Amino acid sequence: MEKLKIAIQKSGRLSEKSLDIIAEAGINLINGSRKLISIASNFPLEILYLRDDDIPQYIADGVADAGIVGENVLVESGARLDIVERLGFARCRLSLAVNKSSDYSDRSYFNGKRIATSYPATLKRWLQENSIDAEIHIINGSVEIATGIGLADAIFDIVSSGSTLISNGLKEVEKVMDSEAVLLTAPDINDARRDILDELLFRLRAVLASRNNKYILLNAPDDKLDKIIGAIPGMKSPTVLPLAMKGWSSVHSVVNENDFWQVIGKLREYGAQGILVIPIEKMIV
Ligand code: ATP
Ligand code: ZN
Repeated sequence: MEKLKIAIQKSGRLSEKSLDIIAEAGINLINGSRKLISIASNFPLEILYLRDDDIPQYIADGVADAGIVGENVLVESGARLDIVERLGFARCRLSLAVNKSSDYSDRSYFNGKRIATSYPATLKRWLQENSIDAEIHIINGSVEIATGIGLADAIFDIVSSGSTLISNGLKEVEKVMDSEAVLLTAPDINDARRDILDELLFRLRAVLASRNNKYILLNAPDDKLDKIIGAIPGMKSPTVLPLAMKGWSSVHSVVNENDFWQVIGKLREYGAQGILVIPIEKMIV
């Protein structure tokens, strides 16, 4: 039977979360001990464990049908692949940073400077787009120490909290791109595999939606029901049930993580009581 081959990072920041999302989609891996390949027992899927940098090329060559990498790795590879879904983890950005004491004013600062990075292709493109003539020094790993040891005047690297930059006496001055883990595929996979990918995608979206939403229950005084319902930007219309106590109703709805605290604040202001917030196991959207 036809199987979909998905490449994920063998060991690194993406590995655990890639396996988690596959497991949450109800897919059971038989030899999940990260050898070279795992097979699913209850879904037509095979997992290949690779270095993240190699994944775009393997997909482009047809060795794997799909894969999970940071968007930064896709951009750096230059491979022509489709992003099927953004997965919401490994969020970071690629930025330029300089010594915190430097008198940085604008991008022209980089003219004639040496910039250390593990992402030369992405940096080169940005320099060209901005008509900057700088020297790129490719180093793999510990880019953040390059200025301290006199190897470079600036670095171009992954930033998340910024604490690594600070502890190396650097300041972030230009953000070049945002990144998060993405599910990739080649544009030309065959129909049978495309069908499997679609089924997987349906499940992954249910997992992602459940992660981003909470189920809420609350008691509302009837004279404030309209205001309270208006404050909940739920899926469709909320469920409203009368309570045994006269003049009160129970309201059920789904609230997105992004709006969550703002919505809760309004609900309290309008007199909602007994607010319960419940995680959602799966959400079919
Ligand atoms: P490999 O050995 O597979 O080549 P690697 O060392 O290149 O691994 P990791 O450090 O595991 O890669 O990072 C994998 C991806 O995770 C990066 O490409 C990036 O998208 C994301 N990432 C890296 N650092 C952070 C961070 N501090 N916060 C969030 N996401 C990050
Ligand atoms: Zn890598």
